[in-house]
Amino acid sequence: MTTIATLGSHCSLQVLKGAKDEGLKTMLVCEKKREKLYRRFPFIDELIIVDSFKEVLDQKCQKTLEENNAVLIPHGTLIAQMNSEEIESIKTPVFGNKWILRWESDREMKEKLMREATLPMPKPVTEPKDIEKLVIVKRQGAAGGKGYFMAANEDDYNTKRNQLISEGILSKDETLYIQEYAAGVLAYLQFFYSPLTNELEFFGVDQRHESDIEGLGRIPAEQQMKSTKVPSFNVIGNSPLVLRESLLDEVYTMGENFVEAAKRVVSPGMNGPFCIEGVYDENAKFTSFEFSARIVAGTNIYMDGSPYYSLLFNENMSMGKRIAREVKTATESNQLDKITT
Ligand code: AMP
Repeated sequence: MTTIATLGSHCSLQVLKGAKDEGLKTMLVCEKKREKLYRRFPFIDELIIVDSFKEVLDQKCQKTLEENNAVLIPHGTLIAQMNSEEIESIKTPVFGNKWILRWESDREMKEKLMREATLPMPKPVTEPKDIEKLVIVKRQGAAGGKGYFMAANEDDYNTKRNQLISEGILSKDETLYIQEYAAGVLAYLQFFYSPLTNELEFFGVDQRHESDIEGLGRIPAEQQMKSTKVPSFNVIGNSPLVLRESLLDEVYTMGENFVEAAKRVVSPGMNGPFCIEGVYDENAKFTSFEFSARIVAGTNIYMDGSPYYSLLFNENMSMGKRIAREVKTATESNQLDKITT
């Protein structure tokens, strides 16, 4: 029997519940400190207890996974805690395309793939001296918005960067990525592409709630102006969103362009779940500042199925269950190599 395995964080509950519902065995790589939490959930068949998630790279852990015919589902925690070489060295079959995760982590590569997919992007700014409009300054990798800041010009950039360095949030030698700030309604568009059916499915949309930028919006301008803190974009949670139906056609086009671009740039392409992240402006024009080349935690809001999947499936279908369904179908038809790397 195939086992679905993942790291205990991010969206692991959704992923393993979906796997259990599909009749697969479930396994969680779990940090000691979280054992009590994850033991609460009866759909988790087995826990591999580790001191740190990096142990998933050790032979001992990989052997256990291999003995259980495990498919490892990558998520944001894997990317946040391991570098691309480490992820690529994982021997356990990884669901989707582990090679594309490097394109998610590296800002230059990310920009290249987004350009290849003709996604409308905010203008990147190469040097702090070139800052003309409001910009957002980002760190490499899936930092979750921690340490990000906004700047209006070069001086503002230097002041805030220095402040964050002195607070120990940024390091001095860290390469930061600067991009024009795009104002509008945040929308994180979640998709699934199946290489078994060659079809793109639109799953849902979420919004991220980010502290402390969001908290800042709740206090009057007078107090905001007195605050010397550089607000971060640290994600705290997510909430659902549905789009105007007239926007859906373009959403599918963007998803399809992304899938096609990924096929050209990083074989075997964008298989499995992914997310295109951005904002809609006052003309309902979408600007995308980011993508995630794997399941996003924003799918957790639809553990019982999403509005758009209820149009495609006559059953409750979460993203976790959709992944498990793909693994099951591929296993039964001897095509696991088509959906894993
Ligand atoms: P990211 O790591 O690129 O997903 O960015 C984290 C958060 O920063 C996003 O969820 C947005 O709230 C915000 N953000 C990132 N890039 C931009 C941008 N160009 N314009 C406006 N907001 C942005």
